[in-house]
Amino acid sequence: MNKQINREIRLKSRPVGIPRESDFEVVETAVPSPGENQLLVQNLYMSVDPYMRGRMIERKSYIPPFQIGQTLEGGSVGRVLESRNDQFKPDDVVVNFQGWREYFVTDGTGLTKIVPGEIPVQTYLGTLGMPGLTAYCGLLDVGQPAAGETVFVSAASGAVGSIVSQIAKIKECRVIGSAGSDEKVAWLKNVAGVDDAFNYKTAGNLVDTLGRLCPQGVDIYYENVGGEHLQAALEQMNDHGRIVMCGVIDQYNAEEPPAGPSNLGYVISKQLRMQGFIVMEFMDRLPQFYGDMAKWIAEGKIKWEETVVEGIEKAPAAFIGLFKGENFGKMLVKL
Ligand code: NDP
Repeated sequence: MNKQINREIRLKSRPVGIPRESDFEVVETAVPSPGENQLLVQNLYMSVDPYMRGRMIERKSYIPPFQIGQTLEGGSVGRVLESRNDQFKPDDVVVNFQGWREYFVTDGTGLTKIVPGEIPVQTYLGTLGMPGLTAYCGLLDVGQPAAGETVFVSAASGAVGSIVSQIAKIKECRVIGSAGSDEKVAWLKNVAGVDDAFNYKTAGNLVDTLGRLCPQGVDIYYENVGGEHLQAALEQMNDHGRIVMCGVIDQYNAEEPPAGPSNLGYVISKQLRMQGFIVMEFMDRLPQFYGDMAKWIAEGKIKWEETVVEGIEKAPAAFIGLFKGENFGKMLVKL
């Protein structure tokens, strides 16, 4: 191994509003050596994810907040360089939760080996990784779609939304997606095969747009955004509809508590089920998820996009880009 320097990204200050690059710092450290029973991993790709914004706030949540000066962490896929652990050998490819650094030493806890094949390794951070599982369980377990129902998906061209949209089509639903550019809308219609899609930035009144595109009403709203999207969906939900509360990215950078939807009363009058979930609760669904996804991918029923930026020093900008819609599909950093 000729490289001696590891670079990692630490949180320098707690962001206020949309994070700035100055909230992060790139720190150089020596590449660590594996001790007894340990292995050295070189990360190849790392994931940047919207939920990480919540961990930058000092508050109690389902996962502890990042601390100032702490190296960030997140999903990553890497290659074993050296191993003093019987379970791993050099060149093994492992999915791990020690992204935001180029190299790390571990005893192997929490690593999942993957066998590189036709599917590129970084797919295990997107379609076959946490975002894919989020889409699968959120739609199927929480949303419980039935054939013929109408499913509305926000952030529909993103890592989660694009997979939700296509699984809903596989389940014979009518699918409507919203996204933030005409290019993303065209992809949803022409590649992902949704029934209709709109650019929420130019569509005008969202209630009217949704009403026009969903003449039979909405049975499932897969919520990734919040704000006006939720308000509009509530207006168009059918009785006994389900709202899958996956994310509210519209609020992650809010400096003031956002105004709630003014029409939440529909949850009662339309007898809606509105349910939040965290993907980590669904890890027991992984075998079924891998089985179904492998089949659907082989059948050409699941397509995906990636936005890949190169170099760990670009990771903060890539993360910030999530809140500006700069990613098309899964946002990844190639290390
Ligand atoms: P995406 O790949 O969808 O990237 C985020 C996208 O959100 C952007 O590309 C942008 O797309 C859209 N967006 C950003 N800001 C706004 C805004 N203010 N209003 C409307 N749209 C906006 O990210 P993921 O697929 O990784 O995540 C999607 C959602 O799922 C997030 O809310 C995330 O927090 C949540 N999530 C929840 C999990 C759980 O366990 N509950 C697990 C994983 C993710 P566009 O150009 O279309 O605006």
